[in-house]
Amino acid sequence: PEALLRGQTAIVTGGSSGIGAAVCLGLAAAGAAVAVNYRSDRDAAEALVARIAAAGGRAAALPADVSREEDVAALFRHTEARLGPPDIVVANAGLQRDAAIGEMTLAQWRTVLDSNLTGQWLCAREAVRAFRRRGPRPDLSRALGKILCMSSVHEVIPWAGHVNYAASKGGVAMMMRSLAQELAAERIRVNAIAPGAIRTPINRSAWETAEAEAKLLTLIPYGRVGEPEDIAKAAVWLASDESDYVTGITLTVDGGMTLYPGFQDNG
Ligand code: NAD
Repeated sequence: PEALLRGQTAIVTGGSSGIGAAVCLGLAAAGAAVAVNYRSDRDAAEALVARIAAAGGRAAALPADVSREEDVAALFRHTEARLGPPDIVVANAGLQRDAAIGEMTLAQWRTVLDSNLTGQWLCAREAVRAFRRRGPRPDLSRALGKILCMSSVHEVIPWAGHVNYAASKGGVAMMMRSLAQELAAERIRVNAIAPGAIRTPINRSAWETAEAEAKLLTLIPYGRVGEPEDIAKAAVWLASDESDYVTGITLTVDGGMTLYPGFQDNG
């Protein structure tokens, strides 16, 4: 669907790996120019940019730590200079610092909240400012702008040993819905995607051995681990006018993980 996002510019945070990289490729294949944000893995980001360019797309690799206000401002400034003002912002960057509550340090708590929640908030705020400065472009999109938050099934499924992560994603869900309510009258759409278990570096230990994967599959009624492309397809739809009447939702993409599979054979 090359025309779907033609002429639009997207920023994808944490775009150099996993889900973010697949979202970059998906948006670019749909015709968007893509700012591939990375924090430290410049080589991976540049390789992705080269791959997009080789396929006839436009992209730029741009560094930023999304938990830092000045970095986020610079990311938007540089995107605008290189690729034009953004139409689509995918706040995807995220991390885990797992620990049982008795052992969890304040630093682990803060690191996760700073990147996963404050980082998404900083990107959303900067996105709104950028959309307002640019003004409507009805030839490109019916919305003034689109913000996509990468949440998780752990915005609803509690997760022992990951209290910081689950709290950050629960926060993302309510931040997203409140922003959607605040911004709908301006035709800024704000939505989230809640991935289930997707095969990426963040959860390698959960799928890299056959034994671990079999255990993981007991949580997934659909019977397979998700691939980053599963999320990319949802992101392209939510970023496009195909979903123009959709705002304030979390689109769960999880092979049924949130269907309480423990109840399948229970009664
Ligand atoms: P990943 O580790 O491959 O990607 C996360 C990326 O975010 C990395 O490139 C990392 O460098 C970057 N990042 C982290 N903190 C950052 C910061 N402060 N500034 C800039 N970049 C930063 O893992 P992934 O699975 O692709 O994760 C992407 C998003 O999807 C995350 O928000 C994660 O919570 C979410 N998610 C993943 C899964 C899954 O099963 N893989 C499930 C639910 C949600």
